[in-house]
Amino acid sequence: MVAVGTPIWAISLAELEAWMEAEGYPSYHARQVMRWLWLRGVSDPLQMSDLPAVLRRLLQERFDFVLPHLIRESVSRDGTRKFLWRMPEGGSVETVWIPHLKRHTLCVSSQVGCSLNCRFCATGQLGLERQLKGYEILLQVYAARYRLNLPTSHVVFMGMGEPLLNFSAVIEALKGLSQRLGLSPRRITISTVGIPKGILRLAECKEPFELAFSLHTAIPEKRRELIPLAAHIPLEDIRSALGVYCERRREWVTLEYVLLDGINDTPADAEALRAFVSPPLYAKVNLIEYNPVPGLPYRASRRMLEFQQALMKRGLLATIRRSRGVDIAAGCGQLARRV
Ligand code: SF4
Repeated sequence: MVAVGTPIWAISLAELEAWMEAEGYPSYHARQVMRWLWLRGVSDPLQMSDLPAVLRRLLQERFDFVLPHLIRESVSRDGTRKFLWRMPEGGSVETVWIPHLKRHTLCVSSQVGCSLNCRFCATGQLGLERQLKGYEILLQVYAARYRLNLPTSHVVFMGMGEPLLNFSAVIEALKGLSQRLGLSPRRITISTVGIPKGILRLAECKEPFELAFSLHTAIPEKRRELIPLAAHIPLEDIRSALGVYCERRREWVTLEYVLLDGINDTPADAEALRAFVSPPLYAKVNLIEYNPVPGLPYRASRRMLEFQQALMKRGLLATIRRSRGVDIAAGCGQLARRV
């Protein structure tokens, strides 16, 4: 039984088939509706021209077809675009589209705000307003593709929120990205600040997505200062969960490392990082240029190349990710609904 006003985006094919039959229609109309919605990007049931007119009106009456509402779009000098959406069930989140050669990455939000309050992150200053539903995460990609005509080859869960604190919605969105929007799970990255239970659950998932862990320093005392959650979750617990993940899935993880000037870019940090990456944890390091946030005391490291070389000398694979969209506050850690 589907309640009146249920978002059509949240309905599975099986549920829609059952609804069709209960209403006296052949179940194959459900497939037609799904094709219109997800393959053709048509969100108005009255335009679903191969359905009987009376069924189109019934769909309109019974289901909610509302999409995220675009409040504001900002365009960076480097081509990055940031969108502020009012979500169907309330609250606003940001999504960032980052074009780079043939790769077009959409960075989606998984929560409205974030409860974790990482010291260097603008989103953390907002606090958590609410969890997004799985379909609301999915609709950020849908809206980029069908409303803004932006190609999307990769999706990263690195926008607002901690994905593993909204686990079931993120997994629902992950499945929808491949099953409904045809995106290869290999091109989807879930990024976490380190929730061992969530990492262990991910280790059991069948979908072949990528996992990134926001480490930022492998020295526990420093990490506790940067990430309040680290006071409650020992780094060693996260490391052993990541080890299980690597062993079960036979995959590497990416360690995200925002380089902060004079804070986590010292030789001692490089040494701690080397010690952190050892079997059963297999990882490469992604060094990220810090994007300043107004009111926060951190600056981007001036020793990025030196730090990369220090890691490579120690046998680690380390790449550098330059900031994109900084002029529109769309860079990593900058999402706070500011212009
Ligand atoms: S870095 Fe991620 S987990 Fe930390 S406060 Fe920002 S959005 Fe939340």
